[in-house]
Amino acid sequence: MKRLCVFTGSSPGYRPEYAAAARALGEALVARDLGLVYGGANIGLMGVLADSVLERGGEVVGVMPRMLVSREIAHNGLSELVLVESMDERKRQMADHSEGFIALPGGLGTLDELFEVLTWTQLGIHTKPCALLNVCGYYDDLIRFLETSEDEGFVKPVHRAALLVDTEPQDLLGRLCPLIPSIIPNR
Ligand code: AMP
Repeated sequence: MKRLCVFTGSSPGYRPEYAAAARALGEALVARDLGLVYGGANIGLMGVLADSVLERGGEVVGVMPRMLVSREIAHNGLSELVLVESMDERKRQMADHSEGFIALPGGLGTLDELFEVLTWTQLGIHTKPCALLNVCGYYDDLIRFLETSEDEGFVKPVHRAALLVDTEPQDLLGRLCPLIPSIIPNR
């Protein structure tokens, strides 16, 4: 089964729209027969997303450092929970288990994870597509800042353009999936 990796908050955020988007993304993944790879927690948007996929019979692989198992409260209903030794190994394993990346709203951990995989794209370490689900304009300022980075000569246009942005889970997957050679088109 092909899987996408989703980075998102260990908090739910204040707006109900965030959880609704996490649920809708889970539904859209299952509808396309795609598995989910994520950080393995059952809290915040991470938990909402995992539950949405599991409730619909989808596959969910969680990747969590041992030291976080109690702090983040590991989800105990996953298809598979991969325990790793460090945060770095978690990011590497999440990437290795998936064909592309999506960031939903989240905090520092989500931003770190998103920028790590974008940097890997820039360096040619992988060619897996990266996307941002911009729910309720949460990422508007970040998107503007990336434009500033490009305007000021620090980010190449091709690298900024490598980050797909959409507001609807279905539309986002509709644009992301054709960029993944191993996913059958029009699904
Ligand atoms: P957050 O977006 O901060 O709620 O965190 C979302 C996920 O990212 C959680 O599973 C955190 O454990 C993880 N995370 C937090 N800090 C880091 C970091 N420095 N590097 C990678 N992942 C992190």
